[in-house]
Amino acid sequence: MIIAVDGPTASGKGTIAKALAAHFGLPHLDTGLLYRAVGRQCALNGGNPDDPADALRAAAFPDSLLADPELRSEESGGLASRVSIHPSVRQSLYERQRAFALQPGGAVLDGRDIGTVIAPEADVKLFVVASVAARAERRFREMQAQGRSVSLAEIAADLEARDLRDRTRAEAPLVAAPDAAVLDTSNLDRDEAITAAIGIAESRRNTESRQGT
Ligand code: C5P
Repeated sequence: MIIAVDGPTASGKGTIAKALAAHFGLPHLDTGLLYRAVGRQCALNGGNPDDPADALRAAAFPDSLLADPELRSEESGGLASRVSIHPSVRQSLYERQRAFALQPGGAVLDGRDIGTVIAPEADVKLFVVASVAARAERRFREMQAQGRSVSLAEIAADLEARDLRDRTRAEAPLVAAPDAAVLDTSNLDRDEAITAAIGIAESRRNTESRQGT
């Protein structure tokens, strides 16, 4: 079974994807981390993330970079959303994501274009959304817990800038697949969001297996 979980930053999609993976006993790939690694590698190379050649060069990042805690920073998120605009960067990360999705037994992937580009045949597609206010508040608390000093207003502005870039880019924009179930987590806590996602996935899976027989 392939489960695609897409949605904007801090919508709760990562938490939901991990919980779905644990629930169904499937491996999980956070595809945003790959784009963050490209963005960070580009900065380490002294390159310009808006330049397609510099960004593509950074797509050859070493796997060890994926363990760098710096990838979780807002700065890396911003760099990721800039390098992810370039079609050549998306293409170079495509095979890795596709192979992960197609492994025997299935997988859970979260990102922006899993249900539309990476695994359009996914058995379960979730599009997780939440208001900017709810997402900024969550990100603010995460940052505070990590001892990072940022203001709520700065976080909200950064989220909106990233959303705009992700939704309006020409290649693989952030958009719900027509067959995705939309889950709004604005007024749900962590456990409620997970319970709702598992409920959707279970019922979609059951529908699929009934249609397949
Ligand atoms: O999900 P996360 O916030 O880690 O993603 C960082 C950035 O990487 C996003 O803002 C988006 O621009 C890009 N991304 C993407 N496609 C994906 C996953 C992430 O373009 N599948």
